[in-house]
Amino acid sequence: MNTPWRKDGILDNSVVSKLLPPEELRNSKAYALLECVENIPCDPCTRACPFKAITMEHITDLPQINWDRCTGCALCVMACPGLAIFIIDETTDPAKVTVPYEMLPLPEVGEEVKLLSRRGEVIGKGKVLKLKVSKNKTYAVTVEVPRERVHDVRAIRCIK
Ligand code: SF4
Ligand code: SF4
Repeated sequence: MNTPWRKDGILDNSVVSKLLPPEELRNSKAYALLECVENIPCDPCTRACPFKAITMEHITDLPQINWDRCTGCALCVMACPGLAIFIIDETTDPAKVTVPYEMLPLPEVGEEVKLLSRRGEVIGKGKVLKLKVSKNKTYAVTVEVPRERVHDVRAIRCIK
């Protein structure tokens, strides 16, 4: 596999585009996107999914996802120690992206936050639509995102 991210650890869209589900599915439902590209020994995502949508044969395999089973519940987002899973919903305009979040203060629903790229650059602002809490203190924050930036926004920063 071509591994351009090894230079700086950041995936670009040429890599991410190969991880996406077929367009028909992208246009029909929210889906988990696993931006997980290194064969590290890790598998909490497989155990987090109540629908057995994420699988791997060996712990150093890359996780495989069956999008037909995925409901977009975001449990895997909160379980992934690599903060490598996102829920993408391109069925609406604006679109929605759910990102893992481990900072304080926590944003509140309705609050405007900064939208960040994979490099941590501010690329816009968006409204928080949903906040899911987990026992392990990784939260899943859903934000409104312009449709054309849905594959660029991968983190948020509170403004307050
Ligand atoms: S979003 Fe929910 S249903 Fe989809 S893969 Fe993650 S845990 Fe499974
Ligand atoms: S939990 Fe995250 S980092 Fe670990 S295999 Fe799953 S997607 Fe990759």
